[in-house]
Amino acid sequence: MCGDGVTAHVYRQIARREPRTPSPAVPADDRPSWQRPPAGRVIDLTHVLNPLFPHWPGDRPFEMRPVSRCSEDDFHANELMLHEHSGTHVDAPAHVRAGALTVDAIAPADLVAPLVVIDIADRAAVDPDTMLATADILAWEAAHGPLPARCLVAMNSGWHRRVAAPGKFLNIDADGYMRTPGFDPAAAAFLAEQRDVVAIASDTLSVDAGLATDFGAHLAALGSGLYAVEALAHLDAVPAAGALVIVGAPRHQGGSGGPARVLAFV
Ligand SMILES: [Zn+2]
Repeated sequence: MCGDGVTAHVYRQIARREPRTPSPAVPADDRPSWQRPPAGRVIDLTHVLNPLFPHWPGDRPFEMRPVSRCSEDDFHANELMLHEHSGTHVDAPAHVRAGALTVDAIAPADLVAPLVVIDIADRAAVDPDTMLATADILAWEAAHGPLPARCLVAMNSGWHRRVAAPGKFLNIDADGYMRTPGFDPAAAAFLAEQRDVVAIASDTLSVDAGLATDFGAHLAALGSGLYAVEALAHLDAVPAAGALVIVGAPRHQGGSGGPARVLAFV
């Protein structure tokens, strides 16, 4: 919020500004590397968060309340009320273990990682309880080579396409059980113990399958100091190997996780 005089001054400056004329194109090769845009495309792996976004049963839905709106005297601002594990979000190790790394303390270097996408969508289309198994990881390695060092391993179950239909995303059956794919706890343990991985990720609300009662994938991954990313979007738009991912984790002190902007450079 600004004082009346300051706001009026800013609006006068904006009104006076000429539209920008594009500068003449410079051949990309002539520019120093820091002035060149990243090669290839940037894919947003983040869902838009709104009050209808499917959430864990019992958690509060996302809320956004207007605080002020653009006018002569004010700027546009909202107040957010949300559960940390809302929308596309990070789980810090502290989500499952007291005293473990909180979201503000995740090493920045671990938030930029080679992206590995393991596709189990065909299986999930006919069996919502299917799990990403160690065999799927070994099959990925047979096709693409060893998992790269300090990578993020994402499960593409096709569930990211269901977000617009929250009932289909949570897929709760008549007995109240969520029927959604996830990591087999043994596969999560294999990644944590046998490979050099910074995080596991899913396009479902949980890295554990919906029927999991012991949350073995969470415990195996987060319990070993990895973080997780849940409810990723657009995994069909990125290759199985060769992209780089940036996880824009929030930094509220002591947090167990939180909504993140996740971008892939392809
Ligand atoms: Zn979570």
